[in-house]
Amino acid sequence: MTDATSACVLCRGAEGDPDLGRVQVWEDRLWRLTTAREGELLGFSYLEPKRHIPHLTDLDGEEARTFGPVIGRISRGLKAATNAEIVYVYIFGDGIPHLHVHLAPHREGDPLNTSMIRGAVVETKLPSGATAIVSRDFPALPSSTHEPVLARIRQQLATPE
Ligand SMILES: [Zn+2]
Repeated sequence: MTDATSACVLCRGAEGDPDLGRVQVWEDRLWRLTTAREGELLGFSYLEPKRHIPHLTDLDGEEARTFGPVIGRISRGLKAATNAEIVYVYIFGDGIPHLHVHLAPHREGDPLNTSMIRGAVVETKLPSGATAIVSRDFPALPSSTHEPVLARIRQQLATPE
């Protein structure tokens, strides 16, 4: 174990779960799923690799190859087990630097919504049927600031890793 992993609560596996108010409900060779045993939501879960992979940007190897099938299976299982309408998925990474995917089964009337934006939020239905969610506290940036970023993303992804 390196210093990074020995200090990491998620690398402690099931031993670290009580400190996080959760319990393991599934595992395979590479992944484990834990679920909160308290709180305002039923079935709020965390999928994480057993190996210390800090962030989604570090995902590689067998975990990268199995991520899609695993998260699909887990989401279907959580949805069915909790009678959820949908399962929200969040990855943040600025708390504990060991990749963990938050899976939140969502039902009408629970505390969840789709907002992850600071300030007063305004929702606007678009002609496409999608909903634009913007903060009144953060005005839209001019398109001249978006264009160079779009170009850099295209350039970055056109280059094989
Ligand atoms: Zn770790």
